[in-house]
Amino acid sequence: MDIASVIVDVPARQTDREFDYKIPVKWKEIIQPGMRVIVPFGPRMVQGFVTGLKEKSEFKKLRFIKEPMDLEPVLNDELLGLADWLTEEAMCFKVQALQAMLPAALKAKYEKDIEITAGKKNELSSEIRTFFGDRTALPWKEAVDSEYAPQLQKELKAGNLELIHYVKNRSNKKMIRTVRPALPAEEMANAAENLKQAKKQQEIIRQFQQNPSPMAVKDLLKQTGASAGTVKALVSKGILAESEEEVYRDPYENRSFMKSDPFILTDQQAAALEPIKEKIENDQHDVFLLYGVTGSGKTEIYLQAIASVIEKGQEAIMLVPEISLTPQTVKRFKERFGNQVAVMHSGLSAGEKYDEWRKIHRKEVKVVVGARSAVFAPFERLGLIIIDEEHESSYKQEENPRYHARDVAIRRASSHNCPVILGSATPTLESFARAQKNVYQLLTLSKRMNNNALPSVEIIDMREELRGGNRSMFSETLFKKLEERLERKEQTVLMLNKRGHSSFVMCRSCGLVINCPNCDISLTYHRFSHSLKCHYCNHEEAMPTVCPDCGSDHIRFFGTGTQKVEEELAKILPEARVIRMDVDTTSRKGSHERLLTAFGEGKADILLGTQMIAKGLDFPNITLVGVLSADTMLHLPDFRSSEKTFQLLTQVSGRAGRHELAGEVVIQTYTPEHYSIELSKSQDFDSFYEHEMMMRRSSHYPPYYYMVMITVSHEDLMKAVGVTERIASYLNGCLSKNAIVLGPVASPISRINNRYRYQCLIKYKREPLLKQHLRTLMEHYQQEMHSNQLQISIDLNPQIMM
Ligand code: ADP
Ligand code: ZN
Ligand code: ZN
Repeated sequence: MDIASVIVDVPARQTDREFDYKIPVKWKEIIQPGMRVIVPFGPRMVQGFVTGLKEKSEFKKLRFIKEPMDLEPVLNDELLGLADWLTEEAMCFKVQALQAMLPAALKAKYEKDIEITAGKKNELSSEIRTFFGDRTALPWKEAVDSEYAPQLQKELKAGNLELIHYVKNRSNKKMIRTVRPALPAEEMANAAENLKQAKKQQEIIRQFQQNPSPMAVKDLLKQTGASAGTVKALVSKGILAESEEEVYRDPYENRSFMKSDPFILTDQQAAALEPIKEKIENDQHDVFLLYGVTGSGKTEIYLQAIASVIEKGQEAIMLVPEISLTPQTVKRFKERFGNQVAVMHSGLSAGEKYDEWRKIHRKEVKVVVGARSAVFAPFERLGLIIIDEEHESSYKQEENPRYHARDVAIRRASSHNCPVILGSATPTLESFARAQKNVYQLLTLSKRMNNNALPSVEIIDMREELRGGNRSMFSETLFKKLEERLERKEQTVLMLNKRGHSSFVMCRSCGLVINCPNCDISLTYHRFSHSLKCHYCNHEEAMPTVCPDCGSDHIRFFGTGTQKVEEELAKILPEARVIRMDVDTTSRKGSHERLLTAFGEGKADILLGTQMIAKGLDFPNITLVGVLSADTMLHLPDFRSSEKTFQLLTQVSGRAGRHELAGEVVIQTYTPEHYSIELSKSQDFDSFYEHEMMMRRSSHYPPYYYMVMITVSHEDLMKAVGVTERIASYLNGCLSKNAIVLGPVASPISRINNRYRYQCLIKYKREPLLKQHLRTLMEHYQQEMHSNQLQISIDLNPQIMM
C-alpha cells in the first residue's frame, strides 16, 4: 500500500477527519493501522495515528509521512473500531478518542529548536555564530530567552536559520546497562589467570564463571565492591560485553505477596457465580448486575470468575474506583494471581503506567486491575470485564471524551462475546431499572459473609442536640460510643461528608461571605497556608483579619473541615490517637497507603476523613462508624443528590463489623426525616429504589428520561444567555414533542474564571436525530468557538450537574 490515512493530533472541528499521506518506500512493509507516526501538518510536525492503508488517494499533492513512532501497532483493530464508536457516542474529536485509549507516555511531546541551515553557517552574523559556538542547533527556549532573539528572528527570515519541530514520546522505556561474558568459558579462565595483578577484575571474571548470565552493572558493582572503571577496563579488553536492557518500573517490586487460595463459596455466592461461569464457558455476552450488601463476598466472586477466564486462556479487566484502588484491593488480586496482574491507577508515575500498559500489550499479564481508563486495556482475548462499585461517579470522565466506563465495557464485551459484571451494594437507578426489566441479569447476595447482621444504625437529630444545649459537633451518643471504643481498644471510622460544605469564611457581624472575585462561589479556607483558595480557578488570597465590608474583626471560617474536627477531638478525647485522611494529608505519593497501613496495624484509634475513607476498607477491629454531617450533599442542585447520599451512607456503614466483632453506626443529621437518610438506617436499598424511582418519574429524570446538558460560557453575560437561548429554541424547533428542552438557566456555579455559565437541559426518551442536531449546532458556532470567546460543552448523560 502506498497511502496511509492519518488522524492528526490537532483537536479541532476542521481537522477532525482523516488526512492522506504517502508512505516512504523504506517503510512500506512496516506501517500498519494503529501505529503512531510523525507527519508534517502545515508548517509543523505533529503526531498522527494511522487508521487505514490504501492504494490511491483522491487528493493530488500528498506529503510524506516523516517517520513511524512505533514498529508495532499500539492500537489493534478492535480498539480502532472502538474509537469510531466513542467519537460518535461522546461527540468528541477522533484524536481525543484515540488518545484516551493510550497511556499518557505515548502522547506526543512537541519540541522545537533553531538550526543552522545547511551551508549557511558563514552567512550568519559573527555574534550569532559565537552564540551557536560549535553547536548546529539551539533549543527553542534557550534561543528565545536570550538577548539575541531579535537577531535570530532576522536570520530566520533570511533563511540562514531554520525552525525545526520535533515530536517525541512523553516518556520512554527504562533501560539499564548490563554486562555479560564476551568469551567462551575456557578463555574466561585464561583471562582470569592473566589478570593476577588486577584483583578486582579477576573477581568480576570469577563471578561470571560461576554464573555467566548478564548482570546489571549497578548490581555487579554493589556485589563486588568494584568501581565503574574496573568494569570498563574489562569491556575494553573484550572480556566482557556491554549492552542496554529494557526493564519495567515496578511499583510493587519491593513487596512480596503470599499466594491465596480460593474460598469455598457459600450457597449464595455459588448461585451467583454459576450463570457468570456459564457465559464465560460458552463465549456469550451478557451483563450481570451483582447486587450484594457490603461484605457479602462480591470480591471473591470476581476472583473466581477471573480464575476461570485465565484457565480458558483468556484475559480479564477489573475496574475499581480510583479511591478504592487501595493497597488492600490490589493485594487481594496480586495474592490470587501473582505476576499475572497489571495495576493501573493515578498514583503511578507516567513511566510506571506505561510499563504496566506494555505488560498488557505484550501479553505478559492476564488481568488488569485499574481505574476508569483501564477499560481500554489492549487485551485481545478478553473473557470478562468487571466494574466494582458500578454506581461510582468517577467512572464517567468529565472531560473529552466524556465517556462512561460502563458503556465502553459493555461495548467491548459484546464484541469479544464475553460477559460484564457490574457490582454494587447500591447500584445506580439506571442499572437497577435495567435489571428489573431483564436487560441485565440480576444476581443477589443478601447476606454478609460472617452472617452477622448489618451494623445497627442510629440516626441522631442534631437540631435536638442543639436544643438540648450541645453545641459541639459530636452528639452525646456519638461521644459516648467513641469513649467506649477507646476503652475496648476497638477502632472507629469518622466521616465528614464534606462535598459542597467546605470551610468558607464569614463575618459574624454583617454576614458577608468571602467569594472568589472570578467565580460565583465562596473561597475555601486553607489552614496550612492560612489563605483562602478558589477550587475552580486557583485564585488565592490571604485570610483577612477584618471584614472587608464592615471592618469588624469577628471574621471566622465556618463549616467543619477535617482539621477542625481533629482539633475538637484533641480537646474532648485527648488520649485518642487520630489519623486524618483528606486531600491535604494524602496529596503525596504513597501517603494514602501509609496512613491506611498504620491504621490497619492499630497505630490509631480513629480514622478521620472525607468521602475517601468510605470505600474498600476492610479492617476487623472497626466496630464504630460515625458520620458527622449526613446531609451536606443533600442540598446540592443535582437530581442525584438523594441517591448519592444514600449510597455514601450505605458504603461507609459497611466499614463496620465486617468480621467477628459486631458493628455500630451513628449518623448525625439536620434532616433525619429525609427518606435517603431514614432508609439508610436499615440499608434498605429496595425501598429507597421504589421511592426514588417515583420521584424520578414524576420529574422526568433518568432512568425514565435520557438527558443532555449543554453548558455555554462567555465573558459577556448577555452573550452567554443569548447563545443558550438560541440553542434552546433551535432544539425546541427540531426535536419531537416528547422531548423537554429547559433553559437558559444559570448554571449552579454561574461564573467560573470570569466566564458566565448558562445551561440548556434536554430530557428525552427517543430522539434518533438528536446527535445530528447537536453536531449542526457545534458546526454553527465553530467560528466563534475557535476564536475562543465562546465555549460550548455538550455532556450526554451528565453525572455532575454543575
Ligand atoms: P464485598 O466485596 O461484597 O464487600 P468481600 O469480598 O470483601 O465482600 O468479602 C468480605 C469478607 O469475607 C472478606 O474478608 C473475604 O475475604 C471474606 N470471604 C469472602 N468469601 C468468602 C468465603 N466463601 N468463605 C470465607 N470467607 C469469605
Ligand atoms: Zn462584616
Ligand atoms: Zn475562582
